[in-house]
Amino acid sequence: MGRLDGKVAIVTGASRGIGRGIALAMAREGAKVAINYRSSESQAQELANEINSFDGTCMLAQADVGDPQESRDMVRRVFEQWGRIDILVNNAGITKDRTLRKMTDDAWQAVINANLNSVYYCTSAVMPIMVNQNYGRIINISSMNGQVGAIGQSNYSASKGGIIAFTRTAALELARFNITVNSVAPGWTLTDMFAGVPDNIQDQIKSRIPLGRFGDVSDIAKAVVFLAAEGDYITGEQLNVNGGAFMI
Ligand code: NAP
Repeated sequence: MGRLDGKVAIVTGASRGIGRGIALAMAREGAKVAINYRSSESQAQELANEINSFDGTCMLAQADVGDPQESRDMVRRVFEQWGRIDILVNNAGITKDRTLRKMTDDAWQAVINANLNSVYYCTSAVMPIMVNQNYGRIINISSMNGQVGAIGQSNYSASKGGIIAFTRTAALELARFNITVNSVAPGWTLTDMFAGVPDNIQDQIKSRIPLGRFGDVSDIAKAVVFLAAEGDYITGEQLNVNGGAFMI
């Protein structure tokens, strides 16, 4: 008996990294999982194979969630397949780091679009379905760097700070429909996104993490599954999963 038996979940950006870990953990808890990805089809298929190997249920759901029409079409396909949508995890994200002096309009807009606009597109697409069900769990992946300054990440920090603010307002507006909206803010987590950080900087960062290690995708996935499965009376919150790196 899984904690998410009978539930339908969409995880955006699930082909790799944190999203992959979340999709896998949700499938292991019995959810039917739509694996969204933009271009990493073989990795998405490999995850689907892994879920199928333990008799989990999943579908591939390709879409660029930075595109409003593609986001809506993806949600429609999942609804047509399974007839409900209980959980949306807005996880897809990118970085295009540059200091403000070197920031370009393209780098600014690409990050805001993929990280923040996507949260609005997918949330607004699942909202009527969740309202009809009188049930929904929306979990947005923000970041520690949406709460603290990070050199070279004005676009990324703005997108993640925006997610935190969006989460609170969406939580207020949707509570009457039994839809909770929360965010999970990972610290430094071992994925492709973090792999680009030079080794000497990684060592400096690690020395500032009280728990003495970087996060694993399973650390983040556990928190997301907790909110989806046990968070019935939690809404508008941000759960920091960062080894104690930033305490507010
Ligand atoms: P990652 O390993 O680079 O994976 C990113 C995922 O997002 C991939 O599956 C990618 O799919 C997908 N994606 C990107 N843009 C997309 C789009 N427009 N439409 C659909 N899918 C898209 O990143 P990660 O480290 O797992 O990060 C996942 C989330 O956690 C992000 O929101 C990130 O900001 C956040 N986060 C990460 C860390 C960290 O240290 N890793 C810390 C704090 C927060 P394709 O390969 O198909 O493009």
